[in-house]
Amino acid sequence: MSLRLFDHHIHSDRSDGTVSLADRAKTVAIRPHGISDHYPWRDKLRNEDDVKRYLDDATRLGLRVGIEYDLGVAPPLSAGTREALHYVIGAIHGLVVAGERLGYDDAGDYVKGRRKTFEARDRFTDPAVQARIRERILEVVAEGIERDRIDILGHPTFSPLQALGDPEVAYPAEWQERLIALCVEGGIAIEINESYGVPHREFLVRAARAGATFAVGSDTHFALGPLDKTEAMIAAAALSHDRFLAGERTVLSGPPRSGA
Ligand SMILES: [Zn+2]
Ligand SMILES: [Zn+2]
Repeated sequence: MSLRLFDHHIHSDRSDGTVSLADRAKTVAIRPHGISDHYPWRDKLRNEDDVKRYLDDATRLGLRVGIEYDLGVAPPLSAGTREALHYVIGAIHGLVVAGERLGYDDAGDYVKGRRKTFEARDRFTDPAVQARIRERILEVVAEGIERDRIDILGHPTFSPLQALGDPEVAYPAEWQERLIALCVEGGIAIEINESYGVPHREFLVRAARAGATFAVGSDTHFALGPLDKTEAMIAAAALSHDRFLAGERTVLSGPPRSGA
């Protein structure tokens, strides 16, 4: 495994992963990584007390601790808990568009190759629906940056629109530039996600040009695997390794964040 960049996005059995925190702590020797379970998550990470317990348990094992904060769904975190975490990944897993909740799960299974067809495709081919989804993504991300002070945008361009095919068609360049500007101006990193294979090369090139910072996220729920796709994506977009987060919210190089 040649890539030594810090892997921020890893699940355990404290949400929907299969590996215990203790076993996760053993694999940091293979490559540096943290832990970032879903919040909220059913009966396991229900509230902030659960997050604090998670933070204590994982810290005791020597892990860097983040969470995958469910944008548009999770309740606001207190400033104390947010600061105690090494980083917060904000990610969208569903959207309310025109009063209707659109789940991302089917699209996710399709994009990850777990099913051969994207059965809900017809619901997303209407250009008006696509435009509403894109606008809603920007609103939810903006709220995550301003209200929740997320540090990393997880799987940034994953949505049912990604499952339709060419991301350059699903996401017009002008929209991509707006999402990138939110991240750059908000001082948050853009995740390169191994599981979903996002964002695509053109997005990463645009982001680098705009001065973005990046974060690696394997998003594994199982054993730690290689970061083959991530390495290829970084190489294809010619991203500089000094623009990547290293397990904490402070950017190691580049201009300091204002107001810090
Ligand atoms: Zn996610
Ligand atoms: Zn995840």
